[in-house]
Amino acid sequence: MTNIDVGQEKIQKQNPYIDFEKVLQQFNTPQLQCETDNGIATIPLADEISFDSWQSDIPQEYMKLSAEQLTERIGIARQKLGSELIVLGHHYQREDIIQYADYRGDSFALAQYAATQNDAKYIIFCGVHFMAEAADILAQPDQHVILPNIEAGCSMADMASEPDLYSAWNELSAIFDGTDDLIPVTYMNSAASLKSFCGEHGGIVCTSSNAEKVLEWAFEQGKRVFFFPDQHLGRNTGHDMGISDNEMSLWNWRLGPGRLGGLNRENLLQSRIILWQGHCSVHQRFSLTQIDQARERFPEVEILVHPECRAEVVDAADASGSTGFIVDYVANAEAGSVIGIGTEINLVSRLSHEYPDKTIFCLDPVVCPCSTMYRVHPAYLAWVMESLVKGHVVNQISVDKNIKHYAAVALQRMLNIK
Ligand code: SF4
Repeated sequence: MTNIDVGQEKIQKQNPYIDFEKVLQQFNTPQLQCETDNGIATIPLADEISFDSWQSDIPQEYMKLSAEQLTERIGIARQKLGSELIVLGHHYQREDIIQYADYRGDSFALAQYAATQNDAKYIIFCGVHFMAEAADILAQPDQHVILPNIEAGCSMADMASEPDLYSAWNELSAIFDGTDDLIPVTYMNSAASLKSFCGEHGGIVCTSSNAEKVLEWAFEQGKRVFFFPDQHLGRNTGHDMGISDNEMSLWNWRLGPGRLGGLNRENLLQSRIILWQGHCSVHQRFSLTQIDQARERFPEVEILVHPECRAEVVDAADASGSTGFIVDYVANAEAGSVIGIGTEINLVSRLSHEYPDKTIFCLDPVVCPCSTMYRVHPAYLAWVMESLVKGHVVNQISVDKNIKHYAAVALQRMLNIK
């Protein structure tokens, strides 16, 4: 597979409604410049301007390797490892990584797939930290889950830490006279410790494809839901279930202990869903203005967005759903369809190449990739694979035994929901 050239020509193809020159004039400053304005083809790790915030203890020999050299070395290592290894690739990974994936999907589909691959001794998860943790929770005891760049996290997952959650839970316990009637629900995009918290406190995990069913389950267990870390998925799902904004409140964790998340007793007592004030920095970029511009340019356009987008964006779209839903929607659309998509650019770009008979473009004219997914550079992949060939497991993700137990309970509750 060849690298995708996301230069000006390609951006024009993906975003046929934008005035490219005008956008560059407006945004071409060092502060606002997006990687995709210059292309996201792989360059040597040493030349990556973002490398300063990436894992730095990779051996020097990998720093200068070109995309071609890396492709060759990864291919040789793969061959040597054979069926002992499976490589998983999240939809938001760059092309130079996704080409090696034995299986592509969203975070949960990948973890589930990994759990069925009992013969594989090593699972390299090309995605972000919480995904590799979920794979480790569901993996067999003798399997090793590896994250190529240990710094590939998720800014949304980082918005909900265990101490902040316990602090909030204690304050809520005082209001509700105990929390027997408050069901914690965590989005898959969260640390294993939060999944474990849910398992231990009668709660559950959800994904963007089953959030409504999971909330129905939660409301059978108790009166209220405490939903974290993504306020938008929680709010959008609440709306789909007929829950009004008056029955949802937003817990501002940044205020710290003793401030009731900026709410008061009355707000909380009338809430059916208490939303954690977290968001995805990629999906929060999509706006009503972008949708209006797309509809003006293409009256026939179908707008398709991810439920991590703001409620006003989801409401104005023709359809919303998980990455799996978006992939299926595009695959099943008729030839000649025009589809404007509100999700991460690597997936939109890939779909536009896989379906050249359809006009597929990203709603955001300054199309930034998810910066943490982007940290999985082929040099890291070459390093972890060649280490395995030499008999060393590097960057293994190993969830603590106690955390694993209750996290698995919360995941199993989700799996039991049909
Ligand atoms: S797209 Fe958003 S939610 Fe997904 S990994 Fe990136 S920051 Fe996290």
